Amino acid sequence: MEFTRSAEHDAFLDTVRVFAQERVAPRAAEIDETGAFPTDVIREAAALGLTGMTIPPDAGGSGHAYATYAAALELVSAASATVAVILSVNNSLVAEPLHEFGSDVQKDMWLRRLATGEALGAFALSETDAGSDAGNQHTSARLDDQGYVLSGEKVWVANAEVADVAIVFAVTQPGARGRGISAFLVPLDSPGITRVASPDSLGVRGLGCMNLRFDNVRVDAGALLGESGRGFRIAMRALEGGRIAIAAQALGVGQAALDEAVLYARTREAFGQPIGHFQAIQFQLADLATELEAARMLMWKAADTRDRASRATAEAAMAKLQASEAAHRAADRAMQILASEGYRRGSTIERLFRDVRAAEIYQGTSEVQRMIIAAAVLR
Ligand SMILES: Cc1cc2nc3c(=O)[nH]c(=O)nc-3n(C[C@H](O)[C@H](O)[C@H](O)COP(=O)(O)OP(=O)(O)OC[C@H]3O[C@@H](n4cnc5c(N)ncnc54)[C@H](O)[C@@H]3O)c2cc1C
Repeated sequence: MEFTRSAEHDAFLDTVRVFAQERVAPRAAEIDETGAFPTDVIREAAALGLTGMTIPPDAGGSGHAYATYAAALELVSAASATVAVILSVNNSLVAEPLHEFGSDVQKDMWLRRLATGEALGAFALSETDAGSDAGNQHTSARLDDQGYVLSGEKVWVANAEVADVAIVFAVTQPGARGRGISAFLVPLDSPGITRVASPDSLGVRGLGCMNLRFDNVRVDAGALLGESGRGFRIAMRALEGGRIAIAAQALGVGQAALDEAVLYARTREAFGQPIGHFQAIQFQLADLATELEAARMLMWKAADTRDRASRATAEAAMAKLQASEAAHRAADRAMQILASEGYRRGSTIERLFRDVRAAEIYQGTSEVQRMIIAAAVLR
């Protein structure tokens, strides 16, 4: 594992840091409050190459290593977790599987547009009865002589409010569970698709989450992504990258919470001195800094493995598990250190506290990550 960074890596992250601080952070409270999808912010991010960070330049991306991508997402997430999640879906869950598994025709049609941000992608796997048990898909794709006909409903599809295309998972061989699922690249303006807003959410508001209804949606055979019956593997491969990205998103929120707590510990006085002089506060800050740094190391390791090896399944699960739980503790402890100032509606900590929670739920709950890690340990 490489710890030395290139000048290019540092220069890119300097640009992202300035963008996050100057263009994203001032918008975070408003995105949270209105729950409106931040189209203009994503457009600016795209202009900096943040919509196709790991896609090679000849395909329209900025061609960065996975660790650079993760570090960039962490910086963006410290400013707004919502913006980081939107970017992570487009990068890890749509552009990357398209790059890895797509046909030349599919890539010509969508990859450059997704990588440059001209188009935005969504990833439609979850259903009402297929969350953790993602193999229990009910959406079907029936093959006839003109192509496939998709029917069913997907839930909680981030980006779907504005997305142009989605990778949709559907059953092509009923009864075969994971081996009978295929992936399809579906333009979201296809006749028969209805977008219905997903339930209002506690945090990461403004993700453009929609439930997608497919009512006999016709796509031609060229919409199949990869081979028939390999969709579940494509989903799991995409989620490897996605989980590294969610580790980065969680770390950004956790670090922002720690930074808020440190600032407050320096300035808030009690019993005639800054509360940061009390060892009870100092030890909490020390533990949080250590836990976040440990999680960051796991994220780097997973990112490095993702670049070098054909699989990073357990590494990605460990990074997401550790980062999301450490970040949750950071937001919780920071709330305690800021006390009433943190609990105030509209405080930064209050938003971070709500935003951090989803990282233990989406792209596989913490229990699912533990199942993956246990399977690797027991293999
Ligand atoms: C904000 C947000 C954005 C999302 N974006 C997307 C998206 O873009 N695309 C998409 O496809 N999905 C998306 N999702 C859905 C998300 O991936 C699922 O919510 C998640 O996988 C969990 O599924 P579930 O909510 O159905 O919980 P369930 O699967 O019903 O789980 C309920 C509880 O049971 C536990 N559990 C389940 N099985 C086991 C087991 N075997 N052992 C131990 N515990 C178990 C779970 O860990 C959890 O605690 C999003 C969700 C949210 C909240």
